[in-house]
Amino acid sequence: MLVNLKTILSGLDKKAVGSFNIYSYETIHGVCRAVEKTGKPAIISFGASYLNNMSLGMVKSIVDEAVKGLPADTALHLDHCKDTDIIKAALEAGFTSVMYDGSALPFDENVKNSRAVANMAHARGVSVEAELGSIALGQYSNESDIDHGEAYTNPANAAEFANVTGVDALAVSIGTVHGMYKAEPNIRIDILREISKMVSIPLVLHGGSGTPEEKIKECIENGIKKINVNTEISQYTVKRLADIIAGDRNIHLSKLTLMQSELVSEVVEKYITLFAER
Ligand SMILES: [Zn+2]
Repeated sequence: MLVNLKTILSGLDKKAVGSFNIYSYETIHGVCRAVEKTGKPAIISFGASYLNNMSLGMVKSIVDEAVKGLPADTALHLDHCKDTDIIKAALEAGFTSVMYDGSALPFDENVKNSRAVANMAHARGVSVEAELGSIALGQYSNESDIDHGEAYTNPANAAEFANVTGVDALAVSIGTVHGMYKAEPNIRIDILREISKMVSIPLVLHGGSGTPEEKIKECIENGIKKINVNTEISQYTVKRLADIIAGDRNIHLSKLTLMQSELVSEVVEKYITLFAER
């Protein structure tokens, strides 16, 4: 069933739910296959940057059809959106969760806009994720082309932000990057621990791709409940498809689209399982 973000993240004890970016039928199908195989929930996440690939309404229609009969809940989430008109359109299209990203704005402006989005979304039973601090840009990321550099989330500001905005989940910046790491990652568990002590809403980790498993475990241990994965799904699937095509240049496209979904589901399944382990 499609539920909102608050519901899918509730009652998690030292576990997290993966949020996987989709932008085509094949990627939606891949995430749903992984839910089917694992019997565990997942968040189907559509970035506002993929509006050239699919419209909001098309995403909602395909997701509605794809989640039928799945053994676990899913949420349909709008990822990283700075534009409140697009957020409104996602609410109207039937998304169950939206992320307002005001992380590049001054604190007060981010608070004001996040609160307004929370009021608008909550009126429809939709959950809201906001972001405080800025997540650096790694290699091969498709999330953004601007690198605002890294600014770790300040724990006291995070507590104030969560209280006054009323958002349902908060993305924090603790050293992960969007895309693949250019160097050895420096994940600041100490900062996460401080934020966790002061903030009661679920915390979100962006930049799951390529993050060492033991660091992911430590993040979950210390309050992360939603983890976003995008780049690794694309990298793995494209590499494997390139090998398949190199082996058979005459392969039919209909076979390739099935293989694409299967390859996406392999990466998603790995992460769903990892995040749900204790
Ligand atoms: Zn992100």
